[in-house]
Amino acid sequence: MIKLKLDIPSNIIKQDNGNNSYYTYFDGRSCRYCKTPFPDQTNKSREFCEKHVFSDGRIRDCKSLYWTPERRMESKKTKDQEQICGSLKELIENGKTEMSWEEFCFKGFSLKQASQTYTSADNQIVALFTEGHILIDPNTYKIKIVIQ
Ligand SMILES: [Zn+2]
Repeated sequence: MIKLKLDIPSNIIKQDNGNNSYYTYFDGRSCRYCKTPFPDQTNKSREFCEKHVFSDGRIRDCKSLYWTPERRMESKKTKDQEQICGSLKELIENGKTEMSWEEFCFKGFSLKQASQTYTSADNQIVALFTEGHILIDPNTYKIKIVIQ
C-alpha cells in the first residue's frame, strides 16, 4: 500500500505501481486550473482540485485561483449571450425577424452583452452575438434579427 503524505492533496497522488494501482486515467479529465489529472474514479462533476490546507497554513484552492474577476465576467458574458441567442432564435422560429428597441430592452437584453458592436458602411448599428447579429436602424431604432 502507498503511504499517504499529509501535505499532498489526495487527488494529486498518482499510483504508478501497476500491481496495486486502483486509479485509472482513461477519461483524461483534469483540474481546470492546474491541469492535474483526475482519476476516473473521482466525482464526474469535479472541475478543480480539492481545497487543501497544508501543514504550514498555506492554502491551495484551484477553484478560487481559476475564477479571477476577468474570467467571471467572461463566463457571465458567455451565459448572457447563450440566453440572448436562445431568445432571438425563438422569435425567429415564431416568424418574427424584427423587434422594436423597447421590446429589446423589455426582454432584459443589452448591447453590452454583444461580443462586438460597430456601425456598418450603410450606417446601421451592428451587434454581434455568438450565433448571429442584430442590425439596429439608427433613426427608428428598429431591430432586425439575423440569427442562424
Ligand atoms: Zn488543481
